[in-house]
Amino acid sequence: MTRSVPLFIEGRFVDSEASEWIDVTNPATDEVIARAPVTTDDEMARAIASAKAAQKDWAQVPVSDRARYVMRYQALLKEHHDDIARILAEETGKTFADAKGDVWRGIEVVEHAMGVPTHMLGETMEQVARNVDTTSWRHPLGVCAGITPFNFPAMIPLWMYPLAVACGNSFVLKPSEQDPLTPVRLAELWVEAGFPEGLLQVVHGRKEQVDTLLTHPDIKAISFVGSPTVGQHIYRTGTHHLKRVQCMVGAKNHTIVMPDANKEQALNALVGASCGAAGQRCMAISVAVFVGEETRGWVEDLKAAFEQIRPGSSDDPDAAFGPLISRGAKERVERILGTVEAEGGRLLLDGRGYEVSGYPDGYWVGPTLVDNVTAEMTCYQEEIFGPVLNVVHVDTLDDAIEFVNANAYGNGTSIFTDSGAAARKYRHETEVGQVGVNLPIPVPLPFFSFTGGKGSFYGDLHAYGKDAVRFYTETRTVIERWFESDIPDGHGPNMTINLG
Ligand code: NAD
Repeated sequence: MTRSVPLFIEGRFVDSEASEWIDVTNPATDEVIARAPVTTDDEMARAIASAKAAQKDWAQVPVSDRARYVMRYQALLKEHHDDIARILAEETGKTFADAKGDVWRGIEVVEHAMGVPTHMLGETMEQVARNVDTTSWRHPLGVCAGITPFNFPAMIPLWMYPLAVACGNSFVLKPSEQDPLTPVRLAELWVEAGFPEGLLQVVHGRKEQVDTLLTHPDIKAISFVGSPTVGQHIYRTGTHHLKRVQCMVGAKNHTIVMPDANKEQALNALVGASCGAAGQRCMAISVAVFVGEETRGWVEDLKAAFEQIRPGSSDDPDAAFGPLISRGAKERVERILGTVEAEGGRLLLDGRGYEVSGYPDGYWVGPTLVDNVTAEMTCYQEEIFGPVLNVVHVDTLDDAIEFVNANAYGNGTSIFTDSGAAARKYRHETEVGQVGVNLPIPVPLPFFSFTGGKGSFYGDLHAYGKDAVRFYTETRTVIERWFESDIPDGHGPNMTINLG
């Protein structure tokens, strides 16, 4: 019988009373490996109530003790790194090495959360006026919620609840219905780490469950990562209900290749950054902008590099990447590729109809390289989320900057060049939130924040780093005056706003 994915509510793993279930498939085989419940209204209400009750006591736990729970969690995640990655690889199709990377990038955020006593320090100023001092404190918000996408089922949940809980909140997580087994494993280790009951709740489902979180009066803040259309709904609905909301959404990331770049480094970087994880990364490079006449000839070498890699199953050590997450995702990529030639592009390598021996039903798309792409084409306008690189040619760095800045998204970008001046000009003039110089995917480590911008982000404070601590806390400012023994000075009450 197919395994049912449990809810994690009220401190226990329970079978849902759901009447509707969602199949979870292995993308390499098309086999149903589990089914996730569409959480009932009653179960949603119980999860939120339990999170609310747990948070009251948790906020009284000293911050260094809260950090120690996180330390135990970090140790367990490291101990079980391989076993989490195996579950993740089965339900996402990622190669085992890539699945381990997904978990590792999450562990790094947990390590950052271990430093919560330092992160939560407020600010003080003595003598802001005569005998008056000011102190600001960081207070938890209450119950926070997270809604996460399919493409990083370990890393993205771990961006959220460890830090939110370390800051004194409780958390309700609604992971992607396409790969819920990894988050459930993360919750099992959470229990092993000994966190008090109720601080983390994991519910499953789709729009209705998310809408409950967006509208419930006891949810104070919403973290979302996913597609732009859903992100807009979440931002609008959440803020309409007067919640704090941060939404990390879609992307179209460009790499600029200058004629003075180290060619081999640049081309290798483009292969990995476009096809890694089958292109299903919000920081995947999906557009290469070649600058100048002399780089035109590099595209043939790029094609040769693309021909060296191939997809395969997660246990195939030579596979560069796995299948797409679902049949629907594969069909979508194939539909977009079907528009290329009619719209004037050249399909130098076409990954449609790719077959992997032994896996006839997998959702495969092979490495795909499209040349002569222009801004109007469908393959440029849409976020493809497949192992596809679009190649654009421009004459100058100024043209490249103009091209990138005209794009609605602003998650990540990079430039390959030997010129410090070109690199500086690019990082200064690009409107994108995360910029790499001679490296393809500029994802900051967790002591910085994940600062995607423009149409890739709705909100004010970003994921992890200092921004996330501010997102999951509110500032209380205390202004104190202590009278000296020779006060009052006989002048009577002060009737002005000036404290001095
Ligand atoms: P998605 O928007 O389809 O789903 C994300 C979450 O929203 C899931 O939990 C899903 O159940 C829920 N959801 C789906 N439809 C909903 C609706 N109508 N109302 C409320 N909730 C709904 O995204 P996905 O396909 O899982 O993930 C891929 C997308 O995520 C891409 O656009 C990618 O760029 C983006 N992404 C962005 C970042 C970033 O940091 N900017 C990181 C990873 C992924």
